[in-house]
Amino acid sequence: MRARRKGLLRTIRAPLMSRGKPMRSAQKGYVYIVSRDADENCFKIGFSKHHPMKRVSRHRRCHDGAKLIAFTSAIQHAPRVEQLVHWDLSTNRRWEKCSRCKCEHREWFDVSKDMAIEAVSRWAGWICSQPYERQGGGLKAFWSSHLRSGFDPDSLSGHYWGWHTESDWAETLVEAKAYRMSLEHVESVKIHRYDETGGEIENAVVTDSILALFN
Ligand SMILES: [Zn+2]
Repeated sequence: MRARRKGLLRTIRAPLMSRGKPMRSAQKGYVYIVSRDADENCFKIGFSKHHPMKRVSRHRRCHDGAKLIAFTSAIQHAPRVEQLVHWDLSTNRRWEKCSRCKCEHREWFDVSKDMAIEAVSRWAGWICSQPYERQGGGLKAFWSSHLRSGFDPDSLSGHYWGWHTESDWAETLVEAKAYRMSLEHVESVKIHRYDETGGEIENAVVTDSILALFN
């Protein structure tokens, strides 16, 4: 439990640039969720530069019935979102020695589908509120001072205290606005998911009503 909290805080604090250059974690891309036949409540959460549909066939080599169940729109700093989600769900992380590729798979989590989607939505929404400086890539003063004053990352992690709602996000963002955090560039994030018939459903994470608060 303590390792999880420490890991989350360390990851939130880590800058996105080093010596003036963007790091791997700053890349634009997709965060996606994959299921497989073997376990009903076990999901892989990964990052992909290209559309995750292309990635799934690769996962099928190791996992029978690997299926893309949800993914974000292409977002900035997607690998950072992936890291944050991995830490957020770290107490449910699986380490599996694979008999097919002989590697160890570490990106599968024993969680429900809702928990996986919730965690991805939360951190994708957070990253799209522009928490890092454009220049230097460090965490903005609003968030650093929050962390210094004992901010608990679990206050962003809905699954410990019940599901996060739109109003929780609105509250966090309104507070950020009160600290004069620049939010001109807040983007709308969408989660794409599939229903039982394979139809694609699109849900906005940071909704228009929240964005309207800043206009
Ligand atoms: Zn494998």
